[in-house]
Amino acid sequence: MKLRKVSAAAAAALVLSITATACGGDGDSDSGSGSGGGDKIKIGIKYDQPGLGLKEPDGTFSGFDVDVATYVAKELGYDADQIDFVETKSADRENALARGDVKLIAATYSITDERKQKVDFAGPYLLAHQDLLVKTDSDITEATDLNGKNLCSVVGSTSAQNVHDDFAPKANLKENSTYSECISSLQNGTVDALTTDDSILAGYAAQAQYKGKFKLAGLKLSNENYGIGVKKGDTETVNKVNAALEKMVSSKAWDKAVADNFGPANYKNEPAPKIGVIVK
Ligand code: GLU
Repeated sequence: MKLRKVSAAAAAALVLSITATACGGDGDSDSGSGSGGGDKIKIGIKYDQPGLGLKEPDGTFSGFDVDVATYVAKELGYDADQIDFVETKSADRENALARGDVKLIAATYSITDERKQKVDFAGPYLLAHQDLLVKTDSDITEATDLNGKNLCSVVGSTSAQNVHDDFAPKANLKENSTYSECISSLQNGTVDALTTDDSILAGYAAQAQYKGKFKLAGLKLSNENYGIGVKKGDTETVNKVNAALEKMVSSKAWDKAVADNFGPANYKNEPAPKIGVIVK
């Protein structure tokens, strides 16, 4: 009898603790409170793009997008240790925001009219350009050289879209889910070139294991205006993120993030964009 009572009490305690976990406070059931100051905020980044969004072997994160996200989160009321960085690959970004998996996305995410049907954007906070990465001894120098060649890019990216629609419709385009897969293909010769933003390509080219092996063509094939993705209709968050980005630029924290992250790759970035102004 006594035993039964104890187990009933234990069961009740267990129910209580499950309820407490489910309701919260650890932020797992929510991507972050819109008013800021919540326990955690989930932010989507890339995990495999050195200089932009990189998960380091020790589990920490580095890159320009990471620094921008960290600055913005702080302005929204979240300290660095309250950020959960979640991997959002190119093709997953719109869905991750729509489902509420993440509150913000800072993942080399270009603002486009097509994407604006599904998500809202704050920014832009960086202007990059599509380019080609080839082996140092490659004779590919122009986009027209790509026709009939094996080219690698990523599914769900503007880079792959532009190849089809615009500058190399006759290239044999292989679409991976990440750019790091393309880098391996370029290294082993399965593809002749990798195309995406110059900011991303410069980061790979500067990695110790690839030093001297690859070169950028320097073509500026498009304008890529990086925005912070926000769930469609969340104007309040867009406005707050825009204010944070303005402050990041005016306080020169933006310049520091550029120097810290693009300096090592010797990436010559464009000046800070004006918030709300898209370069077509
Ligand atoms: N900025 C381009 C895009 O948003 C290419 C880089 C990427 O796939 O993240 O699609």
